[in-house]
Amino acid sequence: MVLNTPYKKSTLHGLEEAAEICFQCGVCCTIPGYSCPAQYNGYTPTETYVYDCLDNPRREMNPALWVCVSCHKCEEMCPYEVSPIAFIESMKETALKKGNIPDLILGEIDQVINTGLAFPVSSRTHRDREKLGLTPLKTTGELSIIAEKTGLLRIIKKLREEKK
Ligand code: SF4
Ligand code: SF4
Repeated sequence: MVLNTPYKKSTLHGLEEAAEICFQCGVCCTIPGYSCPAQYNGYTPTETYVYDCLDNPRREMNPALWVCVSCHKCEEMCPYEVSPIAFIESMKETALKKGNIPDLILGEIDQVINTGLAFPVSSRTHRDREKLGLTPLKTTGELSIIAEKTGLLRIIKKLREEKK
């Protein structure tokens, strides 16, 4: 075990404070097998993915935000109770409201809302599942009810119209 930092959501700091409290120790991005999966090529132990998000002057305009897969590893590993994911998700929300969202992510949102699945299911997928003895995948449009009630559908529709 590399770290033993209990996860207590109630102790997390506010967004701005969290970004300032990050000591850039690199733990959340540099422990092989445990740390941030977004720490891919281009980032280094001294210029990590998490620093890029917390310390980027472009903030919600930073396209790297959308690489975060919301796994919460950074939050669990941070010895200083910083929550990079809380900061990143807040920036994503602001970016979405300002229409600064990649088409790829918009398509992903459509996919999840319309099917309840995070990936497209092809006939090949069904065949492979059948061969493996797995039950058929079912899609559902129920998430669209939530998306409508939370206002997400309205935002997505507006963004689509703006991008035409
Ligand atoms: S978020 Fe925490 S673990 Fe990651 S670099 Fe900052 S202080 Fe270190
Ligand atoms: S939640 Fe995002 S920033 Fe945190 S470890 Fe996962 S991918 Fe990295």
